[in-house]
Amino acid sequence: MALVPFDDRDGFIWWDGKLIPWREAKLHVLSHGLHYASAVFEGQRAYNGTIFKLNAHTDRLIASGRMLGFEIPFNREEINGACAEVMAANKLTDAYIRPLAWRGSEQLGVAAQQTKIHLMIACWTWPDYFGADRMKGIRLNISDWRRPHPLSAPVASKAAGLYMIGTLSKHKAEAEGYEEALMYTWDGFVAEGTSANIFFVQDGKLHTPITDCFLNGITRQTVIALAKARGIGVIERHIRPEEMASFSEAFLTGTAAEITPVRQIGTALNFTPGKLTEALLNDYTALVRMPPEEVEKRAA
Ligand code: PMP
Repeated sequence: MALVPFDDRDGFIWWDGKLIPWREAKLHVLSHGLHYASAVFEGQRAYNGTIFKLNAHTDRLIASGRMLGFEIPFNREEINGACAEVMAANKLTDAYIRPLAWRGSEQLGVAAQQTKIHLMIACWTWPDYFGADRMKGIRLNISDWRRPHPLSAPVASKAAGLYMIGTLSKHKAEAEGYEEALMYTWDGFVAEGTSANIFFVQDGKLHTPITDCFLNGITRQTVIALAKARGIGVIERHIRPEEMASFSEAFLTGTAAEITPVRQIGTALNFTPGKLTEALLNDYTALVRMPPEEVEKRAA
């Protein structure tokens, strides 16, 4: 598969209030965000020209920055407008949108209170995170790395630094022939994938880990609302790894992953993507293409 490097593409990137040609969006190597991971980001998807749950994403971006001790110098409306602007400039209607805020290069040390906060927004096409035949399901290995204790990191923030754990986990999974990794919490409960939350089915009900040390995904919240609208019970709780053997279906949820069925976890656990997963996948696929007012009404 030929890689198209991310720094060598046509198009435009929105950077601190202006659109600039894609290849010119370069950063100095002495940027605080690069050395100390003082960066937060979002991942959003647009369907038919509308970014799904944009307010929720923008609010989380701003909140993530605050959790890292900085204020993004643009408000919700300005950020939302910039997302629309960069999509239009790149002539995209179905796209993945990536805003990123980071500390600049005015100071380079652990303490960097005087750094300027920057914001850039890029977008590109990203059709299907886990490929076209999604109902087949993907295979997850179990990561050696765990999600950190909430006293060890700002776990509710979409902070770049936290993705070190995800990259290590996913690289090992891929090296072992799996598509994704399942991480446990610091205290050994089932947590999430490297960029998606996880759900299980047992006796017609959904079971999903409580998000006490990782991201409570916007897709996760959407799927819970969709399930409730169908009258499907949703149980949020601590899930012990050995309980996974009693679940019939499993799936991941995330902006990029959308709803992705899981067919295997580790070497011994098999799941058959079934009716409940398929029903929610169809509901989600329909919802993301509805006008924002309708989305608010159906999946608050
Ligand atoms: N967990 C992690 C670690 C993630 O990166 C993501 C993707 N943002 C999610 C969960 C799912 O979040 P969302 O549904 O808001 O995309």
